[in-house]
Amino acid sequence: MNVLVTGGAGYIGSVTVERLIEKGYKVFVVDSLENGHIEAVHPEAEFFQCNIGAQNELDRIIKSCQIEAILHFAAYALVGESMENPGKYFQNNVFNAHKLIQAAVENKIKKFILSSTCATYGEPSQVPIPENHPTNPTNPYGESKLMLEKVLKWYHKCHGLEYVALRYFNACGASPNYGEDHEIETHLIPIILEVACGQRELIKIFGDDYPTADGTCIRDYIHIIDLADAHILALDVKGSKTYNLGTGKGYSVKEVIDCVEQVTGRKIKTKLDQRRSGDPAQLVAVSETIKNELGWKPIYNMEKIIQSAWKWKLTNPKGYNKN
Ligand code: UDP
Repeated sequence: MNVLVTGGAGYIGSVTVERLIEKGYKVFVVDSLENGHIEAVHPEAEFFQCNIGAQNELDRIIKSCQIEAILHFAAYALVGESMENPGKYFQNNVFNAHKLIQAAVENKIKKFILSSTCATYGEPSQVPIPENHPTNPTNPYGESKLMLEKVLKWYHKCHGLEYVALRYFNACGASPNYGEDHEIETHLIPIILEVACGQRELIKIFGDDYPTADGTCIRDYIHIIDLADAHILALDVKGSKTYNLGTGKGYSVKEVIDCVEQVTGRKIKTKLDQRRSGDPAQLVAVSETIKNELGWKPIYNMEKIIQSAWKWKLTNPKGYNKN
């Protein structure tokens, strides 16, 4: 099967491309390289440097490469930035992505897989969060993804485009070849690992007065290989579906720090800081739906997640092409 992966030079996209190629798919990657890394594009994938908003160019690629399915990862994904510059998020994550969806409809693409997010739920009234929990995003990033889910819902109804929206919880970890390398790092695990290898003095803990056992926020951390494999299963779904992608088990910020100390054998210096605006106390998925319907099963626990990310960090201390 010929598949197009947008954002295939990014963190989650690159590992999904790797898994797709291992499973025998013919993979074509579209990435603007604004945030992606050319070094993260699998050598067996055919690469096009192109923005998802370039509808004519995408149309040409879809036709000439005989694309049958699209996995759409290319998006901006920083909650804080989306609060400062919402237009950037609606322009790219909705308006440009809509052009990609139009190209998909016009070319009768069989399946469209959307990288969505638990940020579509907003502050949960129930944890773990089931897929039928009300959606009420608290930031433009989550709203932009929810808007795209709604576009897909109507395009399914009106044009028959089949889609699967995967609402990720906290993606983390690395494959042996591809890992996390963001220009500005804001995520918990990579920041703790920077402390572990002496690139940063300490990790700030954003609040310890949440209503959780140790007072720090709880998240559902899911390894990117488990995440990537769910996308591949989603390609075979009949009809359109929306699934949570989490493990169903939550870890607090302090538990993650403890696990990094255990795995790396290094002491992590911490400093208590203020709560980060917009952070819900707990985000944990009800992950039964995709397990029951697609037979998906996450393999990586927290220890394995940290081991894989630490290995990648030691091999690529400054990320791609900066060693
Ligand atoms: N966090 C923290 N210090 C940091 C970065 C993150 O305490 O330097 C906390 C953050 O408040 C959240 C959790 O770690 O509760 C996970 O944050 P991350 O940014 O990795 O993912 P998010 O849940 O925001 O998508």
